[in-house]
Amino acid sequence: MDLNYSVEDERFREKVSRWITDHPAGPLNTLEQKKAWQRTLYDAGFVGMGWPHEYGGQDARPMEQAIVAEEMARSDVPGAINSLALGLIGPTLIVHGTEDQKQRYVKRMLTAEDIWCQLYSEPDSGSDLASLKTRAVLEAFQDGNRWVVNGQKVWTSLGPIADYGVLLARTNPDLPKHQGISYFILDMHQPGVEVRPLKQITGSSEFAEVFFNNAVVPPENIIGQEGQGWELAQTTLGFERGGSLLARVTRHQANLRRLFEVTQHVSRDSVPVLEDPVARQKLGRMVVEVEVLRYAGFRILGKLEQGKRPGSESSIDKLYYSEMDKRHQELMQDLLGPYGQLERGLPSELSLNSSTLRGDDSTWAYNFLWSRAGTIYAGSSEIQKNIIGERVLRLPREPRADRAATREG
Ligand SMILES: Cc1cc2nc3c(=O)[nH]c(=O)nc-3n(C[C@H](O)[C@H](O)[C@H](O)COP(=O)(O)OP(=O)(O)OC[C@H]3O[C@@H](n4cnc5c(N)ncnc54)[C@H](O)[C@@H]3O)c2cc1C
Repeated sequence: MDLNYSVEDERFREKVSRWITDHPAGPLNTLEQKKAWQRTLYDAGFVGMGWPHEYGGQDARPMEQAIVAEEMARSDVPGAINSLALGLIGPTLIVHGTEDQKQRYVKRMLTAEDIWCQLYSEPDSGSDLASLKTRAVLEAFQDGNRWVVNGQKVWTSLGPIADYGVLLARTNPDLPKHQGISYFILDMHQPGVEVRPLKQITGSSEFAEVFFNNAVVPPENIIGQEGQGWELAQTTLGFERGGSLLARVTRHQANLRRLFEVTQHVSRDSVPVLEDPVARQKLGRMVVEVEVLRYAGFRILGKLEQGKRPGSESSIDKLYYSEMDKRHQELMQDLLGPYGQLERGLPSELSLNSSTLRGDDSTWAYNFLWSRAGTIYAGSSEIQKNIIGERVLRLPREPRADRAATREG
């Protein structure tokens, strides 16, 4: 791939950067403010960039998406609130939904009129998601049939604010486990749905447990066919993937730049941290590791620009950046000492957000705590290693007691 941006790309970058300068996010404390901010980004053409025009998207090239993501990360512009809808749920609906479903739901995801969550994991079904137990049974009511849902989900991100969820539920317990699952659109605002927020180590509650007690789903809200749920759940192809890895790189670079500034004010035993050769070695290693990630981002972008989609090998990038983030956050804590742990009252010369960064109130401490999540969500590191071993390196598959009973068998 040509690692230089074209003149056209550079012009587009300037336009994006000008827009960012002219449109400061302002305070984003309430849900309404966060929704309004997503709407502003959408009106600027920065949300749903790769989605088809007919459903409110921009049909933009992966390179343009990458440039917007990079520029937003560079200026620390807050992202869109409806992250799961944009990253995963919308693309799944565009590929597998009926025309009615697409017309009804897709554009409202882009404008944040409806917030969506993903109702997959259960208390005993995380990595082994196909073992899920939540049941959906088609029952006859006076005014027609409806699916009746009973069971429990957990770790539902955005659950406390969601209007709709995509639900995986078992519709046929007699079939092998991967085959008896269906995929539904569930209205979260109904009496049979109870959402209990879960407080996290960071102090916030972005997750919830969700309980279904005779919740109902109309028949037109099934996505795909009955029993096709597992196949649909594998639809990870996003239309908005172009820039995500490069945006991560830009964020890491911004954090590292800030770390360099901050460590100039930190001393240990009266010796400036930056004069410690071991600390310098650690910082050097972090820079190199982020640079490796940057080239991985270009590799993906190159593929997307050629109309190809990254396959199982994207597990290598997921494993690398999530483990790297954890390692780097630990090193940052090492270098900053007690300053890294303060959630409040940090002098401005030591804070994570320099005056040039805006919109985001993260702290070193918050980022350290949050970095634990990356090696768990979207498939834990161990699961990524299994995928890399089996599907990329073609090593023998891990023994699984249930394999004979599944389609993978
Ligand atoms: C920040 C965050 C957001 C999330 N958001 C959502 C959401 O919106 N919706 C949703 O449905 N879920 C969500 N999840 C849940 C997430 O998908 C699960 O936590 C994840 O799949 C792991 O499942 P588990 O927690 O049940 O752990 P388990 O599957 O019980 O795993 C426990 C440990 O065993 C290891 N392990 C399991 N199986 C194997 C194996 N075959 N080989 C080797 N090691 C193995 C795991 O790596 C892990 O270390 C979220 C999780 C996090 C952390």
